[in-house]
Amino acid sequence: MHGAAIRGCIAACRRALRSVVLAELLASSRSRSGPRVCPAPVDAAMVAENLRGTIVSEQTRTASCRCGQLRATCAGEPVRVSVCHCLACQKRSGSPFSAQARWPDARVSVEGNSKTWTRIADSGHRVIYRFCPECGSTVSYTIDGWPGVTAVPLGAFADPVFPAPRFSVYEHRKHAWVAITGDGIEHSSTPSAERRPGRR
Ligand SMILES: [Zn+2]
Ligand SMILES: [Zn+2]
Repeated sequence: MHGAAIRGCIAACRRALRSVVLAELLASSRSRSGPRVCPAPVDAAMVAENLRGTIVSEQTRTASCRCGQLRATCAGEPVRVSVCHCLACQKRSGSPFSAQARWPDARVSVEGNSKTWTRIADSGHRVIYRFCPECGSTVSYTIDGWPGVTAVPLGAFADPVFPAPRFSVYEHRKHAWVAITGDGIEHSSTPSAERRPGRR
C-alpha cells in the first residue's frame, strides 16, 4: 500500500477507536450501575476523619511583612478572594487596586509586633488595619461590617500561584488601563449592599 494511503488508514482507525472509547465513557457515566469514568481510590481513614468534621489535609499559608517579623498564618482555603479598586485601598496598597483573601477569624493567627490603625469605611463601618511598626506592611485587617472574618493582603503571601480573585469591587474607581480577567468573576461598583449612597 502507498505510504499516504497507509497514513490515511491509520488516522481513520484512530478516529474510529476514539469515538468508540468516547461512546463507552458516555454510556458508563450515564449508567448508575455501570463503572465510574474515573474511579478514585478511597482512603477509608480519611473518609472517617472527614465525617467526624476534621479536615485531614489542608494547606496552611503564611503572609508576612517585608521585614518578616510580623506574620499571619492562615489555615485552609480562603472563604473569599477579591480585589478592590476603592481610593482607600489604593492608598493602603500603594497600587491602583488592592487584592486580599479572607478567612474565618479562628483560622488566622498573627505573630510578631504590630500596631493598628482604624478608619471609618464608606459603609460607615470601622476598619482596623494591623501593620508592622518596623517596615509598615499591613498583614491583616478586619471590618466591623464583616464580622467573623479577617482579611490578609494577597501580596503579603508572595505567592504567584495564590487562588485568583472571584470578586472585583468598587469598579467605578478602577483605573482605565486595569482589567480583572478570568472566568466567573463577579464585577461590581460597590463593596457591599450596606454601602451608603452618596459616598465615594
Ligand atoms: Zn516588618
Ligand atoms: Zn477598598
